[in-house]
Parts: sequence; C-alpha cells; structure tokens
Amino acid sequence: MFNHPSFNGHELVTHHVDESTGLRAIIAVHSSKRGPALGGCRMFEYVDDDQALNDVLRLSQGMSYKTALAGLPLGGGKSVIVGNPHTLKSPDLMQAMGRFVDRLNGRYIAAEDSGTSVADLAEMGRVTEHVAGVNHNHAAGGDPSPSTALGVFLSIEAAVKWRYDKSLHNVTVAVQGAGNVGRHLINHLIQAGASVLVCDVNRDNLDKAIALGATEVGLDQIHRSGALVFAPCAMGAAINDQFIAETDATIIAGAANNQLAHDGIAQKLMFKGILYAPDYLINAGGIIDAYYQTQGLLDQQQINQSVSAIAGRLIQVFESARTQGCSPAMAADQLAEHILRSDS
Ligand code: NAD
Repeated sequence: MFNHPSFNGHELVTHHVDESTGLRAIIAVHSSKRGPALGGCRMFEYVDDDQALNDVLRLSQGMSYKTALAGLPLGGGKSVIVGNPHTLKSPDLMQAMGRFVDRLNGRYIAAEDSGTSVADLAEMGRVTEHVAGVNHNHAAGGDPSPSTALGVFLSIEAAVKWRYDKSLHNVTVAVQGAGNVGRHLINHLIQAGASVLVCDVNRDNLDKAIALGATEVGLDQIHRSGALVFAPCAMGAAINDQFIAETDATIIAGAANNQLAHDGIAQKLMFKGILYAPDYLINAGGIIDAYYQTQGLLDQQQINQSVSAIAGRLIQVFESARTQGCSPAMAADQLAEHILRSDS
C-alpha cells in the first residue's frame, strides 16, 4: 500500500466485504485536516481490484485539491463499490455500504457519483447520517448538478473575458455530453447569447439539449467544429494527443473529472496556445452545494454566491500561470498544495 504509485500520503485506506449482499468496497481518505472528507461513492465494474484501488486513491487526492481550492472546511476522500451497478446494486447492498461509511464516524461523508444516484444515497442514509446530497428541501432534490453547471458556466464566461475581452454573446461553445450537468450548462449558455453545439451518445439527452436551442454535431466532430470553447461534460480523459492535434478550440472548460489523458497534456495544450481551465477547480460547484446541504443551509442564493467565487479563483490561477510561465493545471495544483501545506 505505502509504495502504491497513487498512495501519495493517504491518511486512511480501508476496505469492506459483505458476503450477504455481494458488497466489496474501498474508502480512501486522503486528508481530513481541513474537515471531514466529503467525496462521491462510485460504483463501477473494475477489471480488477488494483484498478479499483488506483481509482479510489487518485479520486480521493483529487477531492483534497478540489475542496482546498474551493475554500471549503472539508478534506478529500472517495469510495468505490466494485461491481456492475445495473446488475449488483440492491437496497440491501447500499445499506451495507452505509454501515461501512458509518464506521468511520463522519471522517468520510459519501455523496453521489457515477454509478450511484440520489436514491442510492438515501438508502445509505437509512443507516448513517454521513451522506450528502439527499435533502428533499433542496432546490434540486439534493442533486448538485445545477450548481456544478453554474460554476462551469461562470468559468467559461470568465475565461472568454480574460482571453478575448468579450462576453459570450455570439461565441460558439461545443458541449460534449448533455447529461445532468451538460443540460444545465447549455441552458445558461443559450441564455447568455452563445451558440451551442452538442454531441451525446444518448439520443434522449441529445434531444433535450436540441430542445433548449443547441445544434447537434457528430461525436467525432465536436472538438473540431469551429467552436471557440470546448466543454467536456461526459467522461474523463477526453483531452488526449489526438484531441490536441485535431481541435480548433482555443479554450477548454468543462465539468468532466480528470479530463487530461496523461501528465504531459497540460503542457502540450499550453504550447498549442489552448487555454485550459483546470477541471477540479471549475467543477467544484457540486461539492460546494453538497457541503451546504450537510450544514442544512439550503438558501439557493447563498449557494450560488459561493459557487460564483470559482470564476475569481480561475482568473487567479490563469494569472499565476502566466507569471510563472507554466500551465494553468500546474498553477492550480501548486495553489492547492500550498493551501494543504499551510493547514498541516
Ligand atoms: P451524466 O451521466 O448525467 O451525463 C454524462 C453525459 O455524457 C450523458 O448524457 C452521456 O450519455 C454522455 N456521454 C457519455 N459518453 C459520451 C461520449 N463518448 N461522447 C458524448 N457524450 C457522452 O453525468 P453528469 O452528472 O452530467 O456529469 C458529467 C461529468 O461531470 C462527469 O465526468 C462527472 O464526473 C463530472 N462532474 C459532475 C458533477 C455533478 O455535479 N454531477 C460534479 C463534478 C464533476
């Protein structure tokens, strides 16, 4: 464990097996120095246990960086359930996961992630209070996606302003993935007068985006569709070497986690003159929303105000990157590490 390439000073890594429900899960807490480690509970059919361990460690550290940059009194953690969410998931399994979370006495707080839903978190919430995003009095029923979309929208607006000194009016934005976040993002963009191009593998989600005013583009054309801004809102690792060679976008700003396919990508983007808004900085609206929910603070205006601060921090990172001559991804990491170090 201590020599694992993704270990990086994790505070706690623990696993649990529940034979009666088939639960096999890992919880990783990278840091709880700033507060409880709030992070998603992901369910995925990993090819092997090492892939699950690697994922939970990487994501957990990412949450430490995200909450630090978001200025939240939270640490960073994550959990993974190993198995196909469509075939293995059951209310009993989610409750078994809830009991696993409960044993950490609040050091880790679980939230929704890919493969889990608000309903699954509510099932966990029957046996532990340490779940976020299940508050029925919340404007979106606990779903943090509208807040994530708001943070990404404001970041796109700020990036266009910073780079080109103009508003989003008549600017073309290509959105990859029109799911929970993408759909809300498209709505904001259309309201701001932008032209939106969209692609999605899911026809229903695509049709909903088109109904909002977006124009459909092929899956393999979305990054070279003449849009100024490319907003990845589907899966991770969308920005790879082929993407960089082909894209005509000059700003990348989207909601997807872990957008950069490998460590060298950030610098390649910089050399090609593409301005990259670091994913974990601009998609923090969801964690801010979830944090407010854990505190019982459900005033949407207050939440939106806190989410709006993301755009200012993005500009701080762009300025820092320019001064140092490094990529915004590196500048964001440095800022997060500085915050984490000053807390220890
Ligand atoms: P979602 O599952 O609701 O939407 C993802 C959409 O992408 C779906 O419509 C799906 O059909 C589409 N898609 C999948 N593969 C695609 C492909 N190859 N090309 C085009 N479209 C594709 O997820 P979401 O909640 O909207 O989250 C989107 C991304 O943002 C994810 O990477 C997620 O991890 C990240 N994120 C979400 C939140 C949140 O609050 N929901 C917060 C932070 C980060």
